[in-house]
Amino acid sequence: MGRVIGIDLGTTYSAAAVLGDDGLPEIIQNADGETTTPSVVLFQSFDGVDEPLVGTMAKHSAASDPDNIVQFVKRNMGDPHWRFDSSAGVSYTAEEVSALILKKLKQDAELALGEKIDGAVITVPAYFDDARRTATKHAGVIAGLNVLRVLNEPTAAALSFGLDAGQDGVALVYDLGGGTFDVTLLRIEGARFEVIGTDGDRNLGGFDFDNELMRLVSDDLAKQGAGDVLSDFLLSSELREKCETAKRALSNVEKTSVHMSVGGKPYRATVTRAAFEEATSSLLRRTRELVEDLLDETGYSWDRIDQVVLVGGSTRMPMVRELVTMMSGKTPARGVNPDEAVALGAAVQAAMEVESHPELVGSESAAYELPAAVSGIEVSDVTSQALGVVMLDDDGKDYNRVVIPRNAPVPSEYSQEGGTVIDNQRTINVQVTQGDDPDLDFVVIIGSREIPLPEGLPKGSLLRITYRYDFEQTVHVEVHDMTNRRSLGEFALERVANMSQEDLDAAITKIRGIDIE
Ligand code: AMP
Repeated sequence: MGRVIGIDLGTTYSAAAVLGDDGLPEIIQNADGETTTPSVVLFQSFDGVDEPLVGTMAKHSAASDPDNIVQFVKRNMGDPHWRFDSSAGVSYTAEEVSALILKKLKQDAELALGEKIDGAVITVPAYFDDARRTATKHAGVIAGLNVLRVLNEPTAAALSFGLDAGQDGVALVYDLGGGTFDVTLLRIEGARFEVIGTDGDRNLGGFDFDNELMRLVSDDLAKQGAGDVLSDFLLSSELREKCETAKRALSNVEKTSVHMSVGGKPYRATVTRAAFEEATSSLLRRTRELVEDLLDETGYSWDRIDQVVLVGGSTRMPMVRELVTMMSGKTPARGVNPDEAVALGAAVQAAMEVESHPELVGSESAAYELPAAVSGIEVSDVTSQALGVVMLDDDGKDYNRVVIPRNAPVPSEYSQEGGTVIDNQRTINVQVTQGDDPDLDFVVIIGSREIPLPEGLPKGSLLRITYRYDFEQTVHVEVHDMTNRRSLGEFALERVANMSQEDLDAAITKIRGIDIE
């Protein structure tokens, strides 16, 4: 049998891990000997053919060749309109670009382990909705991976942390990565990991801190006569790279300099940690608000929380540690490597998936035995988004009725009932919404399905609409005719935001044919 791995597909960096024979997960180094791989793709074209380069080398080209670089593609997952057009004239979706990154991780892992990779658990931010989860799964399939499961990042982090610490209690995971922020509350009891609640902001991460630092530095450069560096694409790409490096330096030193050459003249801007912290205070405050909202929503206070775990590279900034210590009155847990925790937990989950469903990776693996250290682990998660259905109110106006609330345990099943609106209604159009606001202007319709009804139902006949969320938070819809007490069937959603099977097949052929360096 080949191996299964865990993959943290990050906004800025990705990592892969595997469960070792001792039952402990370990990071798989990439072909360059690094523990993380920048999630950056450089579309080099030779003779009109794309030969993408993924990782550190691609990242270094961000400044010199910004037109051919794709970074932060995770922010575009689930957006059906996003495209990157390469200079060879090929158009790529967000799933396809992510697939190139996954293909590189798979390729490097196969090289490091000397074995084929059969399958993977890929992690996603907890508040990723159905469309983004499906897009992530599609990216894996396009890359030639058997996606055993998509797993929430904080849950994955907690899995690796819980195994490490072996402690029971309630843990708060504060995860500030390159592009996203997540906060998750969970209970660890022996081998049971139960998520209590989760919240986050998909547009808040290290990237935004880089932006603020770029603004500080470019203002300084402008004062020195360098003009508006940010308005020049090449210069601002160079500045972004230098500011990210400077930001990392400021996690260790109080002051650092950024050097830029503009119009052949050298410039130097000095930034202090204090100025950086002041410029980014509203970003940090936003994470604080999200933490407080989650505590309010779940009814937890700090005295009931036993551990605080920091995950994600951006938690290396001293102000994050200070904020969390100040808020919680606790010292954040040590021993968790913020860059690696998510991939490590995903590797544990991948091994568990194989143990419980050996057929997922071929019959030979039926004899797979889980190492004792992770045997018996159970993980239960919660929904990150409310799901509703469009209904008619008494005045005949459309509104959103919540079927599954936010932070409901998964897998879960909830129902709502409503009446038919005319005599002998022939179909019902089930429109599935995401969001908890009754006003349709504030929710998104994620998919719909026209369902035939039996003949002769009088107006007002009750129909029950049931939503089932599976382990991966994919939605299944079932409609019951309550008059005849029978199911009208279970239906897959026709999703607005995701690739069709046809698109997916075409993408598989397209991406598999591409060589990656
Ligand atoms: P992740 O997606 O969890 O790998 O987080 C990557 C993010 O962490 C990027 O925005 C990095 O700039 C940031 N990061 C990594 N190391 C540091 C550091 N020492 N200080 C500040 N930010 C860092």
